[in-house]
Parts: sequence; C-alpha cells; structure tokens
Amino acid sequence: MSADRSLQILLDELGRLPGIGPKSAQRIAYYLLEADAEEARRLADAILMVKNEVHFCSRCFNYATGDECAICEDMSRDRNRICVVGEPRDVTAIERTGSYHGLYHVLGGVISPMDKIGPDQLHVRELLARLGAEDIEEVIIATNPNIEGETTASYLARTIKPLGITVTRLASGLPVGGDLEYADELTLGRAIEARRAL
Ligand SMILES: [Zn+2]
Repeated sequence: MSADRSLQILLDELGRLPGIGPKSAQRIAYYLLEADAEEARRLADAILMVKNEVHFCSRCFNYATGDECAICEDMSRDRNRICVVGEPRDVTAIERTGSYHGLYHVLGGVISPMDKIGPDQLHVRELLARLGAEDIEEVIIATNPNIEGETTASYLARTIKPLGITVTRLASGLPVGGDLEYADELTLGRAIEARRAL
C-alpha cells in the first residue's frame, strides 16, 4: 500500500471519532507518523484492550471486565440502594463525587419517543427483576435534567412506587438541560445528598 493510501485510511478512521474534525484528524495522524513505534503501539493496544475485555455488567449494565462490574462485586457497598442512570459514563460522574455508596443500574439510554426509544428498548425489565430479587429500599433516579431524562424519571417513579420502594430524584441545582457528566463534583454531590422523593 502506498504511503498516501495508508495515511488516508488513518485520517478517515480518526475523522469518524466524535469531536475530531478534519484538522484535528490531520494533527493526530502526523503526530502518530512521527511518534516512535512503541508509543503508537500503546495507543493501538489500549483501543484493542477496551474492545476485547470490557463489556456490560450482567447485573447493572455498567462497564465490566468480569461477569459483574467492580461496584456490584464490592460487598462493602450499600446494597439496599440503586441509583438509576442513563449511561455508564454517568456512573463515573457520580462515583467521582464520593457522595454515593450504593449500587447502580444503567438503562442504556433514556425514553425518547422521537427516537422511538421506549422502556422496552432500555434495561427497565432487568431493573424491575432486580427490585423483585434484591433487598432494595430506595431507587434514586439520576437521569439527566432534560426532557427525556424527566420523562424517564416520571415513568420509572410510576412503575416502581406501587412496589412499595421509595423513589427519589436528584435535587435541583443541576443545570437544567445539562448532562450529569459535565456537572462539577460539588454540585452533583450536593444533588445526591439533597435528593427528593418522587
Ligand atoms: Zn454492575
């Protein structure tokens, strides 16, 4: 393969990544061209490693390397509380606050009629199964404070409350329309501590 052709393949692949425009793709490609082989291999290995070894936790759908994620396996966590989030990156955001010590459940998205995503497309059935099988006292709904997140929260509250389980929602103070992952640790930590009943 010609040098131009192999460079073009790299540019095409980099350009597909979120947040990487043609200019950035070019900068990264030329950086890698000039980097030593060992550095380039570390990047390639890191990409392959997450693809080969990281999958979804069989209990909560967070990222895991074993059958269950590190949080589900940690017996020192408060196992009477489940915090429901949209995506695994929200688990990371909440863990960073250090304000929460319970378990999680990752829905794999949020209810969005426009995108034809309803409860059946999310891990709601698995959540309800956990509520039947595990000794859960409180479900904290921590979907993003935007329209889809609120729709999902009220759907879950309606479904879970009849089971006799307390349902709470993160306190306001989070920027409306914002994403949990971008909230600073202090704000998000306070929102967890001041959660309100739904
Ligand atoms: Zn898990």
